[in-house]
Amino acid sequence: MRERSLDALIAGVAARQQGAFTWGQARRLGATAGVREVRVEQGRWVRVHRAAGPAPYAPRMRILVTGGAGFIGSHLSEALLERGDQVVVLDNLSTGSRDNLQGASKHDGFEFVSGSVLDAVLLDDLTAECDQVVHLAAAVGVQLIVSEPLRSLRTNVLGAVNVFEAAHRYRRPVLVASTSEIYGKNSGLLHERSDRVLGPPSVARWAYSTSKAVDEILSFAYWRERHVPTVVARFFNTVGPRQTGAYGMVVPRLVAQALLGRPLTVYGDGSQTRCFCHVSDVVRAVVGLLDRPEAAGEPYNVGSNEEVSILELAHRIAARTGSASSIEFVPYEEVYGDQYEDMLRRAPDTTKLRNLLGWEPSHDLDSIIDATVDWAHTVGPERLLQA
Ligand code: UDP
Repeated sequence: MRERSLDALIAGVAARQQGAFTWGQARRLGATAGVREVRVEQGRWVRVHRAAGPAPYAPRMRILVTGGAGFIGSHLSEALLERGDQVVVLDNLSTGSRDNLQGASKHDGFEFVSGSVLDAVLLDDLTAECDQVVHLAAAVGVQLIVSEPLRSLRTNVLGAVNVFEAAHRYRRPVLVASTSEIYGKNSGLLHERSDRVLGPPSVARWAYSTSKAVDEILSFAYWRERHVPTVVARFFNTVGPRQTGAYGMVVPRLVAQALLGRPLTVYGDGSQTRCFCHVSDVVRAVVGLLDRPEAAGEPYNVGSNEEVSILELAHRIAARTGSASSIEFVPYEEVYGDQYEDMLRRAPDTTKLRNLLGWEPSHDLDSIIDATVDWAHTVGPERLLQA
């Protein structure tokens, strides 16, 4: 009997270490929470727990982060691990990468599961083993959503249904990431109850906007009708190390172009404005929301209040990198085809988040540019243009 359970325990622990099994599957093979290794000493088998030393491993929470290998997800995972949570990242590595998780992987409480939110059974398994879910897995980047609208829709809508269903089954709180895209073309100062102003559904950008709005509608419905504590974080433009420009994001693209001495591509006439927030400020907001049960059932804008035109941004990036690159105005049709519309202005009102958490962004635009430049120097500017 003992031998059999020892075998099972070893098999389970090994399976989990190899990342081949989810926690639930490994546990059915015999793995036990917190056990890192099993070995035989003087004829008796002993379990070696994850944390060294006599203190028991006592995580605060076990949090499932879907899309945790992405730009925002990897920073969030690290922040949660650093404060003592266990983190399970579920990611299919379509736009995220294992490289992003190098920092997270150093923590004992970290686990990576390669898989998709479209796999309802896997999601069920992982949700059962966690205390809380952060749902970040989604199609990202204007370039991707325009070129692969069907994939975007399926991931966003069906993935969210799977997340909320599992959360309902196990009564787990969910934070779902949404986007300022849901406001569409509304160019006013955007507060959480601002109108959505959209063009026709045949335009991929509005279809994407609607798919994320469906995520939000699901979130509110599961809260109201099923009493699943859900909160919506609406991210505005977020920037920082690990963000790739491969899917359209303007700051890493312009920084890479400036460092490589290539023309800075400004789409349209560059008068469109955005507010760029450092990813560490966004992560601080998300962690704050996770810790506030009273946030349930509500959407929160998360973004910076420093508004800048894209042309001004290009000049600022050229100046801060000391680049001699010229500015090249590129018509939208050349990049995104004729079925494309841009937002002329996108600026958040973050009063609601400030009232709840006292949250304010701590990085200004110049320090955000500098952080991106530093990262570009570390990994090489070409990396900022790669998927
Ligand atoms: N943009 C640009 N040059 C680029 C990439 C983007 O001028 O090389 C513009 C884009 O058209 C938009 C703004 O920069 O007006 C922000 O684009 P991004 O894709 O970063 O975010 P979003 O459009 O979602 O705000």
